[in-house]
Amino acid sequence: MQPSSSITVRVPAKVNVQLAVGGRRADGFHGVSSVFFAVGLYDLVTVTPADRLRITVAGADAEQVPADATNLAAKAALLLAARHGIEPKAHLHIDKGIPVAGGMAGGSADGAAALVGCDALWGTGADRAVLLELAAELGSDVPFSLLGGVALGEGRGERLTPVPTGGGFHWVFAVADGGLSTPAVYGECDRLRDLTTGSSDADVPVPAADPALLEALRTGDAGALGATLRNDLQAAALSLRPSLADTLRAGTEAGAIGALVSGSGPTCAFVAKDAAAADALAAALTASGTCRSARVAEGPVPGAVVV
Ligand code: ATP
Repeated sequence: MQPSSSITVRVPAKVNVQLAVGGRRADGFHGVSSVFFAVGLYDLVTVTPADRLRITVAGADAEQVPADATNLAAKAALLLAARHGIEPKAHLHIDKGIPVAGGMAGGSADGAAALVGCDALWGTGADRAVLLELAAELGSDVPFSLLGGVALGEGRGERLTPVPTGGGFHWVFAVADGGLSTPAVYGECDRLRDLTTGSSDADVPVPAADPALLEALRTGDAGALGATLRNDLQAAALSLRPSLADTLRAGTEAGAIGALVSGSGPTCAFVAKDAAAADALAAALTASGTCRSARVAEGPVPGAVVV
């Protein structure tokens, strides 16, 4: 492939329609069974030639995103360059549309987009399998940001199997003021489990996908999806941010057919029966004053693509 002058990659957010969390493993990670669902809220990552690696960030809450080597997009560029033995010369401009620290894998999305964009810019021609392997090295959620659609993630969430879906679903996302730290939410989950059961990690059931949820996705049945949504981190997110209970209640009272905290939160996700219901739900959530903003999105959508 010929190196080109400027590449823009569009990459979606995710919501976990199921997040079953097992006990802590010997490596400190939790085993999970996660059904990832890519939704049409996007970051844009534009990659242009430069004399060194540079990161700039724009969009909502851009000031909360590091513009240095700790940015997941920078880590992705460095990893790809090291793999090919080249200098990581690129300017990565990130336009954030995905809530920052919102439980929607915004950083992971930018990591995936940077892999795709830098590979195209530098003409390194990595195939899908190599990109997925590098993505898994960057973080548990990064492979899914490459893949998109709907997928079951096992292990730390990085071992993916695509899940068939029978059509699209309508979502509303209630964006909160301020983020939640993913490690803090897992820590709270452990603390609550220790408190309530006093059990060891070995007693926590091995997480597995719920057949009823997979069937709802396969048949495109929004009501059944709403009824089978599950997030084992929700109690921990609510414990750290009790006001999220008001947001979930406001959405349910306004007609949502399913509601849950997205991943580690604090974004709350609602299923609506159609596009008109989603618009009405977003208006009601905004008026309720229980969130900073409410955004409608459809899904599933593809993963990171050059636009
Ligand atoms: P997840 O759902 O994967 O747990 P999240 O959506 O809750 O993640 P992110 O938006 O990925 O959270 O941000 C988590 C933290 O990662 C931020 O507080 C920020 O400091 C850091 N970070 C590093 N790179 C990025 C990036 N490109 N975009 C956003 N945050 C980033």
